[in-house]
Amino acid sequence: MPKQILRIGLDVPLNRLFDYVNDGFNAQVGARVVVSFSGRTLVGVIVEITDTSAVPAAKLKAVQHVFDGVVFDANMFKLLNFCANYYHYPLGQAMIAALPLRLRQIKPAKMRKSYVYQLNQAVDIASLPKRQVVLKRTVEALQANISLSEAQLAGVSTGWRKAIATLKEMGCLQQTEVVAVKAGLQSSNVEPTLNAEQQQVIRSVLGEANHFKPWLLYGITGSGKTEVYIQLLKTVLAEKGAQALILVPEINLTPQLEARFRSRLSEYPLATLHSNLSESERLQSWYSASTGEAKIVVGTRLGVFSAMPNVKMILIDEEHDSSYKQQDGMRYHARDVAVMRAKQLGIPIVMGSATPSLETWHLAKKQQYGLLRLKERAVESAQLPKINCIDIGKSPTEKGLSPILVREMRERLNRGEQSLIFLNRRGYAPVLHCSACQWVAPCVRCSARLVVHLGQKQLKCHHCGHEQSIPVQCPDCGNPDLSPVGQATQRLEQTLVDLFPTANVARVDRDSMRNKDALTDLLKKVQEKEIDILVGTQMLAKGHDFPHLTLVGVVDTDTALFSPDFRASERLFSQLMQVSGRAGRAEKPGEVLIQTTFPQHALFDALRAQDYESYANALLDERAVMDFPPTSYFALLKAEASSYSQVLTFLNDAVALAQQIPNDVMVYDPLRPQLERLNNMERGQLLLQANSRTAFHQFLRQWVPQLRAQMLANKVRWVLDIDPIEF
Ligand code: ADP
Ligand code: ZN
Ligand code: ZN
Repeated sequence: MPKQILRIGLDVPLNRLFDYVNDGFNAQVGARVVVSFSGRTLVGVIVEITDTSAVPAAKLKAVQHVFDGVVFDANMFKLLNFCANYYHYPLGQAMIAALPLRLRQIKPAKMRKSYVYQLNQAVDIASLPKRQVVLKRTVEALQANISLSEAQLAGVSTGWRKAIATLKEMGCLQQTEVVAVKAGLQSSNVEPTLNAEQQQVIRSVLGEANHFKPWLLYGITGSGKTEVYIQLLKTVLAEKGAQALILVPEINLTPQLEARFRSRLSEYPLATLHSNLSESERLQSWYSASTGEAKIVVGTRLGVFSAMPNVKMILIDEEHDSSYKQQDGMRYHARDVAVMRAKQLGIPIVMGSATPSLETWHLAKKQQYGLLRLKERAVESAQLPKINCIDIGKSPTEKGLSPILVREMRERLNRGEQSLIFLNRRGYAPVLHCSACQWVAPCVRCSARLVVHLGQKQLKCHHCGHEQSIPVQCPDCGNPDLSPVGQATQRLEQTLVDLFPTANVARVDRDSMRNKDALTDLLKKVQEKEIDILVGTQMLAKGHDFPHLTLVGVVDTDTALFSPDFRASERLFSQLMQVSGRAGRAEKPGEVLIQTTFPQHALFDALRAQDYESYANALLDERAVMDFPPTSYFALLKAEASSYSQVLTFLNDAVALAQQIPNDVMVYDPLRPQLERLNNMERGQLLLQANSRTAFHQFLRQWVPQLRAQMLANKVRWVLDIDPIEF
């Protein structure tokens, strides 16, 4: 009898599968295997079982091991196949990347129990041995938080396990096992009666629940979209065994959302999938989703690949959010993959947003997506805030704040209301400048400026992570008088503390909110009115409910207003709508003040009128005139090498190859991206554009393999980004 041949997907950058002989293992399609490949031992996944191979039998190696159980079912294969084709990415790599790390490893994936830790008695740091730095830091972190997960502790120090063991011995630590699938919290909130708009939306979706149907749920901030999700889930999950997949931009930023699902749908086990889980937690979540035990899976973009046997509905919250796009490896867009998943499964998918992406809006207008609207705020007394501009040409700012904004903040303070100051730039100041010779501190590895972080006395590159201490004098002219120029959140926080010495000011950005609990704790303080003024980045813009917040000040948007990125206006509009949506969410009316030199700009007209639709339509018209997405389709070939001449040669060769393939694709000349050098690599890119997706992919299917075969392809690092969002 001929031996079984297993066709296997491996994590190697070759667009093909590999044949191995099965010597007596019990093999199933979708099972993981261990094989040797070019002298390495790798984990792969069986894609096909057959008895023939193009490789001569004598040359075929045998698989070393086949694991029990399967990691992908037929539906997942279909989805991964689609992705490999659409993103022109090797299937094997796509498959392996979709697995949790533990399942990509050779040792059997054991689920280690994981714990959260909290101090159960006071520890006096001064009493700890002086040299136990890690122990001290661990105690400090535990003191600063209610409890810490293993992933969070790992962020404190790599030596955390030893510190935890010491603390356990000292008897001052309590540990609680983490269960990935938590039954929800007991419901405490009352169920609101849905208003007419919400009921209409739910009727529409449920009316077509048994087949593929993409919906855009376009509802203003606070219109009750989340409430709609909850009711939809209640109905869908009532069917025995049914599961639902919910994608959210960044779970860490929306602890309230997860808590709401847990408490309102407490009868359904819920698992989360995101990058802030420890590997062992991620494995548990993944298993619980793939066995069907978890009925609700809430995940960030990687969640779109969670194996689930019985998904009946997919929900995407804040569908416009750019964090749905993966920026390395296979550059998928989780929203687009989710739509394909829904299509393959024949189920509905609901994409919610107050400011839909133009891609989605375009499809809704063309009636390829159903359009659902929520036009009113759900809480009756809550009104949309008034939005106005402060012309800083007429009313100049001092330390970044105009007197008008300061006056309005003072009024809020006197009335016991809260203000939020939005500035989407973290650090102390965006540049360090020498007034004598105009030197500004550059990153040694990138064509970018270093950001001043005064608290840590550091200059940091926000692109490559490079850090250095602040120089005492100008390296060019020796001038000792270097000054930070411009505004960023830390500096603004300092200014606010100086201006309002009696107020409680809190800053929210990636530097101040390093773990999930920090934000949860802060949000609680805001709810309890322990904070008067919030200052922060877009971390503050997303989904939070601030009932006592009545003023939003936007400090500096003008750089974004004139960015060369063709999506800049779309993004800025959506960001400002989101952050504005934080004001006036309860009885008290809210006000938004935007500082700008260009109050007449069309974007601000649209904002003042709170008119997403007209603005989106105008932007769509512009895109159509320029032949930009979503009217046409883009792909970007990005390349980098230690010298630009290599990059350019590679890109020019790529252009020449394209010319040999008959096509309807526009191939532009090689260009340098805005950030020309990143991490010591010189960068270049080639933009491709087509009006027909089919023609585009036909071309790419011929072109990409030829690129792979290029001589220079090995010396130059390159990727193909389909539907790119960063240029
Ligand atoms: P969105 O997700 O659109 O921002 P939410 O679902 O968070 O809106 O709703 C905003 C607020 O209105 C929440 O406090 C929510 O509890 C409340 N809410 C939603 N629907 C109703 C309703 N039908 N009746 C009363 N309150 C509601
Ligand atoms: Zn100088
Ligand atoms: Zn850098």
